[in-house]
Amino acid sequence: MYNKLNPDLIEQLRKIVGKDQILIDEERMEPYSHDKVVGLKADPEVVVKVDTKEQIREIFQLAQRERVPVTPRGAGYGLSGGAVPVRGGIVLSVEKMNRILEIDKKNLMVTVEPGVITGDIHRAVEAEGLFYPPDPASLDSCTIGGNIAEDAGGPRAVKYGVTRGYVCGLEAVLPSGEIIDCGGKLVKNVTGYNLIQLLIGSEGTLAVVTKIILRLLPLPKIQIDLLVPFDNFQSAADTVSDIIGHHIVPTTIEFMEQDSLKAVERLLKKQFPFNDASAQLLIQLDGNRQEAVDADVETVGTLCLEHGARDVLVAKDRPTRLRLWEARRMIIEALNFESPINHMEDVVVPRSQIPALLKGIKKIASDYSLRIISFGHAGDGNVHVNVLKDQISDAHWEDLVPTVAEKIYRLTLTLGGTITGEHGIGYTRRRYLPLALDESQIALMRSIKTAFDPNHILNPSKVLP
Ligand SMILES: Cc1cc2nc3c(=O)[nH]c(=O)nc-3n(C[C@H](O)[C@H](O)[C@H](O)COP(=O)(O)OP(=O)(O)OC[C@H]3O[C@@H](n4cnc5c(N)ncnc54)[C@H](O)[C@@H]3O)c2cc1C
Repeated sequence: MYNKLNPDLIEQLRKIVGKDQILIDEERMEPYSHDKVVGLKADPEVVVKVDTKEQIREIFQLAQRERVPVTPRGAGYGLSGGAVPVRGGIVLSVEKMNRILEIDKKNLMVTVEPGVITGDIHRAVEAEGLFYPPDPASLDSCTIGGNIAEDAGGPRAVKYGVTRGYVCGLEAVLPSGEIIDCGGKLVKNVTGYNLIQLLIGSEGTLAVVTKIILRLLPLPKIQIDLLVPFDNFQSAADTVSDIIGHHIVPTTIEFMEQDSLKAVERLLKKQFPFNDASAQLLIQLDGNRQEAVDADVETVGTLCLEHGARDVLVAKDRPTRLRLWEARRMIIEALNFESPINHMEDVVVPRSQIPALLKGIKKIASDYSLRIISFGHAGDGNVHVNVLKDQISDAHWEDLVPTVAEKIYRLTLTLGGTITGEHGIGYTRRRYLPLALDESQIALMRSIKTAFDPNHILNPSKVLP
């Protein structure tokens, strides 16, 4: 059981961070009561905006003494309820810790605070000819601390991998108040257990990250995008396998089915090319030598046509490339416009199993008379499955969502996949963890949680069932 905050505790918090960095009135705390999960909301008792690791240490010491829960928060753009204070207590926002501390061009490293918006890191390093590849679609809103906590991915994961591939150093405050400084500007490091990798993807349940050192790459000079319409998804999926089979790894391979494109058309009140095709692939290739990238474009285009593509649209300059991506970028907004209440899953299967997954999902939609629209990352098997409420009654929807979610998870698991590829377990999926992991793995995870946080004051009721 946790204790409620009282005026004396709030006064102590005020002393730690200063009176302007505390929110206690309901209206100003409302934005901190939810993330981007539709329908999930829980009021904090206080919101504290921290600026230093020492403040976080003092807050933890107070929270331990008084047995009050603490929920870390970046930008609140999560899709699994991780930043929602479901047990009340303190929301600890790192939004003010938003400084890019150093771009080290000699070592190809950038050092940042956790509240920096990911897109700002992209822009800052690109101005120096450098490249931080992880690119969650939310990158202009989410924080790098949130990306570390969720091990965020993005379309470029096909070629460049996800966040965990780029973190060389982490500073973090443990729930005890101790501060740990792991790794550094090191490309190699095998000194002891890898605590950096344990903290990445721990969804704010083990420590609060306060400083991050990220590895950078040289910025690729050339990018070319292809939009390729197909008459059936199987041909599109076969094309993806064949491209990889030819030892070409595109930067991104995204897919949209016709129903997502139609939803975007209804939102934007305009028509897109090939809107009668049943599936479209968006393929990006990058590199530094024009001839090499052109040769890959030629091979990929030929393979697409051999597999029955209707056409291959090629975009080389930025405005045309942005036009090709317009529909893909607008899908989430379009689905929210179609049905403001909807439920998003984020399953992942081996790339070759995407057609079987989509077929199974269509069967679930028909069995339950539902509209389910899927889109996502054909290159890495991560599919976003959106169940739309449409005109279904509230009571029926409440019953339906857990049933349909479980059906989707079981289907995914049978295909050798798992229940979340990038959005995390958080609060919304924790009851389903035992479907995906056996009891011994969950028991080990519980012991790890207890080793870091014996009193379970940090982000309770998240991840573990
Ligand atoms: C439109 C849209 C598109 C998206 N696209 C993608 C995508 O392409 N790929 C992808 O991976 N995700 C995507 N997401 C999900 C989301 O943006 C990511 O999970 C992102 O990493 C969340 O960052 P945030 O700063 O908003 O974190 P929050 O939502 O604030 O927090 C997320 C979790 O991180 C913890 N946390 C935050 N900061 C810290 C810290 N400093 N130390 C410890 N724990 C911390 C919180 O406690 C919480 O558990 C998308 C979301 C939306 C709404």
